[in-house]
Amino acid sequence: MSVLPFHLLPDNASVGSEGQLLIGGCDVAEVAEEFGTPVFIYDEDHLRLRCAEAFDAFGEHAVYATKAFLCTAMAKVALEAGLGLDVASGGEIAVALAAGADPQRLAFHGNNKSVAELDRALEVGVGRIVVDSFEELDRIEALVAAGRPTPKILLRVTPGVKAETHEFIATGQDDSKFGFTVSTGVAAEAVRRAIESDAVELVGIHCHIGSQVFRVASFAQALAVVAEFAEPFGLPELIIGGGLGVAYVEGEESATISQWAGVLKAEAAKAGVTANLGIEPGRSIAAAAAITVYEVGTIKHLDGIRTYVAVDGGMSDNPRPVLYGSGYETFLPRAVTADRTRDVRVVGKHCESGDLLVREGKVPDDIAVGDLLATPVTGAYGHSMGSNYNKILRPPVVFCRNGDARLVVRRETDEDLLRTDVG
Ligand SMILES: *Cc1c(COP(=O)(O)O)cnc(C)c1O
Repeated sequence: MSVLPFHLLPDNASVGSEGQLLIGGCDVAEVAEEFGTPVFIYDEDHLRLRCAEAFDAFGEHAVYATKAFLCTAMAKVALEAGLGLDVASGGEIAVALAAGADPQRLAFHGNNKSVAELDRALEVGVGRIVVDSFEELDRIEALVAAGRPTPKILLRVTPGVKAETHEFIATGQDDSKFGFTVSTGVAAEAVRRAIESDAVELVGIHCHIGSQVFRVASFAQALAVVAEFAEPFGLPELIIGGGLGVAYVEGEESATISQWAGVLKAEAAKAGVTANLGIEPGRSIAAAAAITVYEVGTIKHLDGIRTYVAVDGGMSDNPRPVLYGSGYETFLPRAVTADRTRDVRVVGKHCESGDLLVREGKVPDDIAVGDLLATPVTGAYGHSMGSNYNKILRPPVVFCRNGDARLVVRRETDEDLLRTDVG
């Protein structure tokens, strides 16, 4: 038997009387009928519960990393739970503010923030700027000299911890474009410079070792390094970043946000940390909250080779398989508990052989053209990393809760595609 591991579905997933999938009390097929396919369907209470878990552990020092998934509705969910927002571009700042965020609740990240982005951040009064380079300190000093208010900053340091994850999303090792290196003394030099500068108020040290990290011990290891580094400076804040891994496929297991927080707190106690600890979860809040639902358009069986199932989306709504070789499960929402006896490769509709969604997928034998096909755990780094490649329209986002399906991002239209053309 190969049935879909049910724990990969959102918290409030259930099976209806005909074996069909419901999310947040909404029949997935009905949501697809109403809003079309592809569609991202989120369990809103799943998002709220994960945000609450982070807030319970670290209070206002827990912030949601918006790059995982951001729209007005998501920002509101995080803010209503008491979380701040981690933003990494002028665009993320703009969306967070449009959602009603108090600028004080924003932490501004990035290894190459532009002068314009920093100027905007100082102008609106972003609560924390996480400074990543000496050039950034120069830029802030120039802006403050020109009259902008003095910001509270943290310094991002690289602890020299290599997290076990895809190399594109490992950021804690010394060979990294991010942060000031602890081991070479550069981080200590940055602290000295920030303390001496009248243009910034240094309030803490920050590190982020990477994303999709399953080993919670790696975070504890990084914490030990930065705690020792930060100790002599007596700063009030120590932020350990995001990065907690989530299970995407059968056989994977991940810690909960609470378990992760427990390990961090224990390590901090051991290291005698008196600063306020903070975290920045993104993936662990949003990933498992959603599924993407597609319609099957073509089933191409190549004798002795494989079967290709082509759906109406692809790398434009989920680039992770192409970027990182990420795996996903597949299932048919009409028969969510059915045995998946047929091996298929699920591909998109883009003009590339590389456009795959699920390299080794399993589906029930009776899969047919016109069926809805879904991939679970697509709530993070799917919609947010999506594109308009082939001028494909970005899919809508629907939040489901207590049987109510609420459209929070509409599907793009052809007019959206032409909105920026001026000639
Ligand atoms: C990406 C990122 C996060 C969130 O990472 P997740 O793996 O989504 O939890 C948090 N902090 C920083 C600085 C990041 O770059």
